[in-house]
Amino acid sequence: MKICSTCNKEVADNFVEFRCPSCGKAPIIRCFHCRKTAKAYKCPECGFEGP
Ligand SMILES: [Zn+2]
Ligand SMILES: [Zn+2]
Repeated sequence: MKICSTCNKEVADNFVEFRCPSCGKAPIIRCFHCRKTAKAYKCPECGFEGP
């Protein structure tokens, strides 16, 4: 089970996963909706916030 890093909702498919561009450690997961609306995410490791 994966959770969107922005809205904290469970994602099934239609999501993207990548590592934090700042620390390169924490995986960031964004659901389709948050990606489409370009909502900000926050890295749980380093606190980096990005689009
Ligand atoms: Zn989301
Ligand atoms: Zn980070």
